[in-house]
Amino acid sequence: MTIQEADINLLPDPAPLVGGERLTSTSGGVHQHVYPATGKPTVEVPMAGPADVDRAISTARAATESWRRTGPDTRRRLMNDLARALVARADELAALQIVENGTPQTVAASFPHMIADHLEYAAGWCDKIVGEVNPVWPVPGFDYSILEPYGVVAIIIPWNSPLYSIGSIIAPALAAGNCVVVKPPELTPFTSLRFAEIALEVGFPPGVISILPGGGEAGSSLVAHPGVDKIHFTGSGPTAQRIIQAASANLTPVALELGGKSANVVFADADLDAAAERAVGFSLQLSGQGCINGTRALVQDAVFDEVVELCRRKAEALKPGDPHSADTAIGPVITNTACERIMGFIDRAVAEQQARLVTGGTRLSGEFADGYYIAPTVFADVPADSEIAVHEIFGPVLSILRFTDEEDAIRIANSTRYGLASYVQTGDVARAHRMASALDAGMVWINGSGGLPPSVPFGGIKQSGQGRLGGKQGIAEFSRTKNVWIGM
Ligand code: NAD
Repeated sequence: MTIQEADINLLPDPAPLVGGERLTSTSGGVHQHVYPATGKPTVEVPMAGPADVDRAISTARAATESWRRTGPDTRRRLMNDLARALVARADELAALQIVENGTPQTVAASFPHMIADHLEYAAGWCDKIVGEVNPVWPVPGFDYSILEPYGVVAIIIPWNSPLYSIGSIIAPALAAGNCVVVKPPELTPFTSLRFAEIALEVGFPPGVISILPGGGEAGSSLVAHPGVDKIHFTGSGPTAQRIIQAASANLTPVALELGGKSANVVFADADLDAAAERAVGFSLQLSGQGCINGTRALVQDAVFDEVVELCRRKAEALKPGDPHSADTAIGPVITNTACERIMGFIDRAVAEQQARLVTGGTRLSGEFADGYYIAPTVFADVPADSEIAVHEIFGPVLSILRFTDEEDAIRIANSTRYGLASYVQTGDVARAHRMASALDAGMVWINGSGGLPPSVPFGGIKQSGQGRLGGKQGIAEFSRTKNVWIGM
């Protein structure tokens, strides 16, 4: 497996993009980007440091007044133009996403269209953000409340689906009238930079969208900066804790999209073949590097062995391969460190006899040896309190747990500190509603998954986050209320 020269030539200038210009020298050091499928270096990424963060924030601040006064019709048109331009360059964006983090082509190809949909949906809100008239007493007056943009929103995204992340978060933030400073990780700066270049090309004013590739240092400078009016963070719980501490100095509001250990509850009355297909698909997609992956399948006693066997067959049918190839289902994980961390979970589960290894459990060798590939892995008879049932592994590992009845399923499903997504497979509609009500999660998908349309609120509860993207709530997330009273 190789990476083509043409793919490297596609990469944008990796330097920070601030106020429509590349920063020619940065203060955060340099990161050597590596293509995860081959372990081979591509380009060096100049990382933003505190001085660059400072510059990006003052540039964004300078742009806020004019952007918030820009008519909703102009914002709507620009966002729709951007959506169209992204679709026109969908192949190029997908190719960047593949090189950036090894996302298989079939998945990468869908992201440009998904984020165009998010932009178009949010564009439709630009001219529908309305206020309210409030009754007041005892003094006669005319009182109204309006939604205003925060101003400068700092958006910090992770490496697992950076194109989808930037598109789905920026869309409501821009529609609400904010300027954004986005910090993609140093591991995956390319799709964010190309997104912002295309936004400039379609006419977004410089300073409305700035991109600061960088690591923890850039992130911590950004969230501690007094010029940031709102923080939107997607990533892990420990980083979220650090961000909340840093944000407390300026009392900056924070929205969090964090990790999960989502339960997928399979009842004996479900269509078992479809349920197993989903159990495998929902957990192993993106090599397990998805926040909403249903990595804990809870299967009812009576059909346990049958479902485990179906899952084994379906997991073994997932073909690891070159991310550029259209028949590759499983790509690499992001880094060698991630590969070793994931193998640590697997090796401990086997050595400590935490559970029964059904399939996988190895790092792939041969043509995959230089890359970061792990075989699709399934464990069965996983105790609810074992390490692989409790921790977010963020690798291609499905843990299958056993339950007896509905009450038992709810108890096990809700026994983690997470509450992002959950899934239920059942043929009983009344049970489906009971489960939806009982599960501690921000989102419940029953008998399938409707994808991630921009019209529905996305987000978690418990240690999976706070705040929502999507729908009306996504616009509210990036707006604040002002009340006005006029004496009559
Ligand atoms: P991470 O927390 O290590 O990093 C996320 C981002 O935070 C990166 O851009 C990183 O550079 C930055 N960062 C690191 N230290 C920081 C600091 N002190 N201050 C500010 N920013 C800092 O997470 P990760 O490993 O990149 O991503 C994986 C995690 O993200 C998983 O837990 C996954 O479930 C979660 N995730 C959640 C969602 C969601 O929508 N809920 C989506 C994707 C990923």
